Amino acid sequence: MPTTVAIAGAGGQLGRRVAELLLSRPDAGERALVLVSRNPAKLASFAARGAEVRPGDFDAPESLVAALAGVDRLLLISTNDLERRATQQTGAVAAAVRAGVRHGVYTSLPSPGPAPHPTGPLAASHYATEEALRASGMAWTFLRNALYADLQLGSGAQAVAAGRLVTNAGDGRTAYVTREDCAATAAAVLAGEGHEGSAYDVTGPRLLRQADVAAALSAVTGRAVEVVAVDDETAVQGLVAAGVPESMARIFAGFGKAIREGLLEMQTDVVERLAGRPPQDLEAFFAANRAALLGETA
Ligand code: NAP
Repeated sequence: MPTTVAIAGAGGQLGRRVAELLLSRPDAGERALVLVSRNPAKLASFAARGAEVRPGDFDAPESLVAALAGVDRLLLISTNDLERRATQQTGAVAAAVRAGVRHGVYTSLPSPGPAPHPTGPLAASHYATEEALRASGMAWTFLRNALYADLQLGSGAQAVAAGRLVTNAGDGRTAYVTREDCAATAAAVLAGEGHEGSAYDVTGPRLLRQADVAAALSAVTGRAVEVVAVDDETAVQGLVAAGVPESMARIFAGFGKAIREGLLEMQTDVVERLAGRPPQDLEAFFAANRAALLGETA
């Protein structure tokens, strides 16, 4: 009987891309693919290609028990609801156990705990979910995705427009990774064997300081970008002034503090080892998205 792999939270950008990569593999016929989403209709194109699309909502664990029936291996994609996420995800782990899932793969964050983390509830929800998986009796794999390079396009465009990259990350270093490389790594884990009990830091190829990010922005756009260092509270207030709700601003600024304190200073060969090709460098990613950095796209 073929293995049945499911993706829960499949309707987002990462989930859709992992589904795409799994369906495109030469060995796609060796596994059945179940896509679980609050909005099955938006995954109709995958149903047409042989995936089974089932309704499932992290806010309604019973719906997940039904959606995961017959599933062997589950990719549990962390939700984007930062307030309810710990409850949603630990509930999803319990639902997976009840459904008989054997292996849970979870998209986490490097160094999520147990020590308090500058991003507060964000890291705490990742840690709680990892702990729930460890205690679940299922085999587990953690894909601790580094900061998305993709998210640097928005802040990068602002920095290019202003000529200033405002940051509270100090001289800390981190290895931004593209969402595409995270998807390729997740697909390799779901389709492969031997990943049970592993916590992988999924990172880009180089540890970068904010000065390196500014230099990459300048090189790609031809515009001068200087680094402006601020403290944590100034970073929070700058985000609030830009319209970000304060609770979210504290989480975003928490990432700058986490970089400064070295909590995100890791660079691994996980993408190359698992996905079979080197991860994309931040400057190459910027070059591929130059129009977005110059504010020329919708
Ligand atoms: P995204 O496009 O915003 O997708 C969000 C995901 O959350 C979707 O798959 C969505 O599933 C799911 N979701 C939210 N609430 C849900 C609920 N009540 N029930 C079921 N599913 C729910 O984000 P992405 O780019 O794919 O990234 C995936 C995740 O990585 C994010 O959700 C976030 O936790 C994390 N992330 C990491 C970074 C980083 O820098 N490493 C950056 C941003 C986000 P459906 O719509 O299909 O139900």
